[in-house]
Amino acid sequence: MTMDRRTVLGMGGAAAVGVLLAPGVQLIAAPPNETAAANAHRWAMLVDITKCNPACTACIDACRKENNIPLFGDPARDIHWIRKVEVQDKERQRPPFTLPVLCNHCEYPPCVHVCPTSASFVRKDGIVLVDEHRCIGCRYCMIACPYKARSLVYFPTKPPKDGNPQVPIRAKGVVEKCTFCVHRVDDGQPPACVETCQQSGHAAMMFGDLNDPQSEISQRVKTLRTETIRPDLGLKPHVHYQGL
Ligand code: SF4
Ligand code: SF4
Repeated sequence: MTMDRRTVLGMGGAAAVGVLLAPGVQLIAAPPNETAAANAHRWAMLVDITKCNPACTACIDACRKENNIPLFGDPARDIHWIRKVEVQDKERQRPPFTLPVLCNHCEYPPCVHVCPTSASFVRKDGIVLVDEHRCIGCRYCMIACPYKARSLVYFPTKPPKDGNPQVPIRAKGVVEKCTFCVHRVDDGQPPACVETCQQSGHAAMMFGDLNDPQSEISQRVKTLRTETIRPDLGLKPHVHYQGL
């Protein structure tokens, strides 16, 4: 998928909104502060676009392996927790670049507010999760998410032979998405995509606690020019981008 940089940043006017929002869908405004993180941590990601190699898929591959995400070979129904979008920047006349896009773990997540069963919820540290045992597969959350970060499990899945026992296989008919590798975060490790990106030598992704003013991510978000995708939607996303 290719997008224009102005559209990504919400500078393209009303006509561009349809590119990110599902057709005909009005974004539901989230009441401020209702779900704001109040815990000691506020986990967030920062992606330095200038270091993201357009040909590299290490983060996507690591995510699939870590989280037992199958590929069904059906592009319309395959599950994507992280994907790369090509962005054109004709305005600045620079070459196209790629943008890893995943769940933004929004501070005011519309996916949580539309969920009729409370299957979608936000932890106090800001990580947005889905309880598959409560999910009825209505897909309201998929429509509400402006970042197209959620996938329905269309087909029965079974654990891969070399699967990760820490992450349960999701049942057919539920919705899933990036968890920031919550099982790793709770164990003091970064998400698998971030670790792999660092190990690959590109070091485009980093993860950390925005509530810790001394953390590297806090320092970089505070002192460098960073952006989020479509900040105009008011959801306060927590995947930040440098060099966008
Ligand atoms: S990016 Fe989408 S799925 Fe993730 S928290 Fe925001 S609205 Fe929900
Ligand atoms: S598909 Fe599941 S998580 Fe999404 S809104 Fe419906 S019940 Fe909630």
